[in-house]
Amino acid sequence: MHKLGPREDGHSAGDLGADADEVVCQQFVELVTDYFEGAMAPRTLSQVEEHLVICEACRNYLEQMRATVASLHALKPPAPAEPSASLLAALRARKAAE
Ligand SMILES: [Zn+2]
Repeated sequence: MHKLGPREDGHSAGDLGADADEVVCQQFVELVTDYFEGAMAPRTLSQVEEHLVICEACRNYLEQMRATVASLHALKPPAPAEPSASLLAALRARKAAE
């Protein structure tokens, strides 16, 4: 009879299976929005870019996300410029009329 207990092979905590400095695919998926928003810390950004060099799957994912983000932006109407004087005048006239 052989029991399989919890493994205690002496490794330290934090068993991500990768160096702490290495971005893995799962992390990249979580970080990709930051990547697009430019909200990524420079250190993280360089790790991500290193990962992209070696990982074709994440490059493909990035391209898909890029296309998705582009189409989302395409759906949005362009931001209006500052309210026009005529609009303000029209609003004032409407208020005055009430
Ligand atoms: Zn990857």
